[in-house]
Amino acid sequence: MGYAEPVSEIESRLLILRERIADACARAGRDPSSVALMGVSKNHPPASVAEAVRCGLRLFGENRIQEAKAKIPACTADLEWHFIGHLQSNKVRDAVDLFRVVQGVDTLDIAEALAKQAAKRDRIQPVLLEVNVSGEPSKFGWDPERLIEALPSLGGMDRLAIRGLMTIAPYAEDPELARPVFRRLRELRDRCSERLGTALPVLSMGMSGDMEVAIEEGSTLVRIGTALFGDRPVPQ
Ligand SMILES: *Cc1c(COP(=O)(O)O)cnc(C)c1O
Repeated sequence: MGYAEPVSEIESRLLILRERIADACARAGRDPSSVALMGVSKNHPPASVAEAVRCGLRLFGENRIQEAKAKIPACTADLEWHFIGHLQSNKVRDAVDLFRVVQGVDTLDIAEALAKQAAKRDRIQPVLLEVNVSGEPSKFGWDPERLIEALPSLGGMDRLAIRGLMTIAPYAEDPELARPVFRRLRELRDRCSERLGTALPVLSMGMSGDMEVAIEEGSTLVRIGTALFGDRPVPQ
């Protein structure tokens, strides 16, 4: 009888997450490979990212530019990083340099600033548009109708590749309460796609507490912090 390798907490949590994704996909009649799992590493050190990478994860998200500036160069180079926070105009340059995808584009000004920086680098910047589906005043993101109005301008920015929509559902004990929010994001995605005349394949929705419901409603990318890395240490 051999001895098994000790399993790290991140490894066992990742196994549980893969099962949760597979179960939700089975209920929804979806292929589990159609849901990308992002590790949200905010407030966690590069060593935690390294352990998740060892367990096969490649996609990570950060929500603060300052933190990302120190962390991303301390991790292996072959990872895909997305910015998932609220982007300020004075941080756009850093965001384009550090991140493959900027999720959470929520104004025309930020979109224009990203397009300008992408042009300077002779690149196309992939982005997601953040929507405040529930209309919570404390949240960033487009009002759905304002987004529809802004689409011609956004679609005209050649240096941006709009890949889809993202949202953060209001926090609730019962994840079922998030279902209408996720469903409305999917319906809005379909409307936007029709207006733009292009596919918007990415629906970034679902976090540790509500990922199953998000997957059942069509999420293609779940952003998972706590359920992968454990409770977030308070930043210094
Ligand atoms: C922190 C964060 C997450 C992850 O939240 P958990 O509940 O810890 O899974 C997902 N998305 C965004 C935008 C975040 O800021």
